[in-house]
Amino acid sequence: MASFELIRRLAKSNGGKILLLVMDGLGGLPREQGGPTELEAAHTPNMDRLAREGAVGLSIPVARGISPGSGPAHLALFGYDPVEFEVGRGVLSAFGVGLELGPTDVAARGNFCTVDANGLITDRRAGRIPTEVGEQMIALLRSIKLPGVEIELSVEKEYRFVFVLRGEGLNAAVSDTDPQATGVAPLPAKALKPEAAYTADLINQWIDRAREVLKGQHPANMLTLRGFAMDPNLPKMRDVFKLKPACVAVYPMYKGVSKLVGMDVIQTGDHDSTEDEFRKVAEIWDQYDFVFCHIKYTDSRGEDGNFDAKVKVIEGVDAALPILLDLKPDVLIITGDHSTPASYKAHSWHPVPTLLWAPGVILPDRAQAFGERECMVGGLGQFPATDLMPLALAHARRLEKFGA
Ligand code: ZN
Repeated sequence: MASFELIRRLAKSNGGKILLLVMDGLGGLPREQGGPTELEAAHTPNMDRLAREGAVGLSIPVARGISPGSGPAHLALFGYDPVEFEVGRGVLSAFGVGLELGPTDVAARGNFCTVDANGLITDRRAGRIPTEVGEQMIALLRSIKLPGVEIELSVEKEYRFVFVLRGEGLNAAVSDTDPQATGVAPLPAKALKPEAAYTADLINQWIDRAREVLKGQHPANMLTLRGFAMDPNLPKMRDVFKLKPACVAVYPMYKGVSKLVGMDVIQTGDHDSTEDEFRKVAEIWDQYDFVFCHIKYTDSRGEDGNFDAKVKVIEGVDAALPILLDLKPDVLIITGDHSTPASYKAHSWHPVPTLLWAPGVILPDRAQAFGERECMVGGLGQFPATDLMPLALAHARRLEKFGA
């Protein structure tokens, strides 16, 4: 694996254009023994042709056996070692909804939840209230003021929101208040280091007030906070890879992780379809030399355990693919950030099918279609996801020779 610093040294500011298409949770498993995976079952004539012309392989998001969250898995696809560059959930959420974070601000991801008369959680997601109801609850919570700090709140989507504490002397080493279970009360925020005692105390004061404010509401009559974090100040793609990068994604978290690495985040609608997203890519294509496009629903249907619906999402992406192919990217990568097999109903550790297409410079392999088992014997082999950016840059002729 080429080091991040080596690539930073060799990257050039001119060369071809790169398109990275990520189908979230793309990797799957056979539904029955001997059967196809979701990607293998899907009718994907466009991707199969690209697989014949290009090279395929399996990427390992974080390390063998590790099931990653989407945040770190995307950082790896963008070339950043997710273990070295660890980013808290609160920061991803804050950046995702477009909140700025100052150097001493602490952000957390919030969930509205439902509690019973004894304060025990009965629904961790408050019946998945619509975003509009979430907005109303946030409006109520904005009345809470604490001395010495500012509090900023923003709805992320549905029952999810972002909590930002702004002020001096703050520290993010605070434990989650989400017990990740029902039948128990939300936990108090605890300082994980002595320096975080002041911050934990402020958070607990705010939560006590929030409990009063939300008391008469239903189903969102309580909340939990988790993933307290500060801006990690990641190196930016422009500086490291000498690229002008943009992101086309619908879900806030993916916009957040893209913004963290310095991508321009393109405005999208909440309900944009795959075609809508691909047309957005086409609109901005001339202005950028790296565009990341994110498709969420492969992962959602995998988590639902709906094999057939995940197949349909993949087929929809394939059918819309000509919109991207018309742009004639020099390098096209189609992959996932991790696997979400429908039979497993969760993110898994399985390596992720990856297709690299770069006419004229790619060494083709023998793959005849895009699917897990073709990828297993493909020319890219099994490789760390962080290798994808160096490979993309090389195929776009954006890397100098190493040494004389
Ligand atoms: Zn994901």
